[in-house]
Amino acid sequence: QPPIRIGIVGYGNLGRGVEAAIAKNPDLQLMGVYTRRDPGALQTLLAGTPVHAMEQLDSHHGQLDVLILCGGSKDDLPRQSPALAARFNLVDSFDTHARIPEHFAAVDAAAQAGQTTALISAGWDPGMFSLNRVMGEALLPDGATYTFWGKGLSQGHSDAIRRVPGVAGGVQYTLPVPAAVDAVRGGTRPTLSTREKHTRECFVVLEAGASAEAVRQTIVEMPHYFDEYDTTVHFIDAATLQREHGAMPHGGFVIRSGNTSAGNTQVIEYGLQLGSNPEFTASVLVAYARAVHRLHLAGQHGAKTVFDVPPGLLSAKSPAQLRAELL
Ligand code: NDP
Repeated sequence: QPPIRIGIVGYGNLGRGVEAAIAKNPDLQLMGVYTRRDPGALQTLLAGTPVHAMEQLDSHHGQLDVLILCGGSKDDLPRQSPALAARFNLVDSFDTHARIPEHFAAVDAAAQAGQTTALISAGWDPGMFSLNRVMGEALLPDGATYTFWGKGLSQGHSDAIRRVPGVAGGVQYTLPVPAAVDAVRGGTRPTLSTREKHTRECFVVLEAGASAEAVRQTIVEMPHYFDEYDTTVHFIDAATLQREHGAMPHGGFVIRSGNTSAGNTQVIEYGLQLGSNPEFTASVLVAYARAVHRLHLAGQHGAKTVFDVPPGLLSAKSPAQLRAELL
């Protein structure tokens, strides 16, 4: 079997994670990174990874089996995924949940016209968590599903606190409320408000002369981001921020509890504890790139999601090996 040839489109946290993940999958070969910035100025994780300008993608068409798109969900993927699906098989990690149906439609139109295979919204949420929500509902129709996130660094909320006047730097962690998780695991199907499910914790470096109390108040009352949560703000110095808050941990749980009869409660739980959110997300994208290649060879074109992919296609092992070893 020749290796599956992969191109990385966009080189940020996720792009670096994909580069690392491909190195752990001998059946995949990284052909290069494609960037909108000056390729000569990019420092790759591994020595020898070729870096190309985005404009070169089309001329490399015959050398690439699947592109893994690592752009941002807000501004990059809504344009890049449909444009590239017209010519290439691809995987993206589009995570703006409310806009997934319109993203799917745009990518599907391009992929159907171009006879390509394009899998959107892979990762862990959306992605692995979505699969577990589907399984929970299908297996226990009389039940309730709960998703908890954290402890994890939230990029969007960290950006929001850094925009508060008087803030020089900072990060925000989302934490599940232990009592809420315990109640859900108990199978009683509690009704939980936003405030009861998660708390938010901020670590903030103040600008010289800024009022800590004014900054704290602005953060905890910020509409959409913090006002519906109990938020704690800690003030730290720049050295502590750099030393203790540079990693990107995340994770969470999907829990489904239900009843198969009046007397019998069943609880299903899937949990993730991630030392690096982008590196784990990248590992998921890489496994789905293998599946996309196989779907494409089987003539299955158009947009796909994780719901459309048989799990065996994610594995480097053959169906016979999987039946013997993992069934
Ligand atoms: P980054 O901001 O690190 O990178 C996004 C893009 O910005 C890159 O592709 C790159 O494009 C450009 N870029 C990166 N660094 C720089 C820089 N220093 N200066 C200028 N441009 C830069 O985002 P992440 O990699 O952390 O995340 C990408 C997306 O992944 C997120 O938007 C999120 O939606 C998604 N995600 C999905 C998850 C899921 O579970 N489904 C989980 C985690 C993330 P270029 O090289 O072309 O300039």
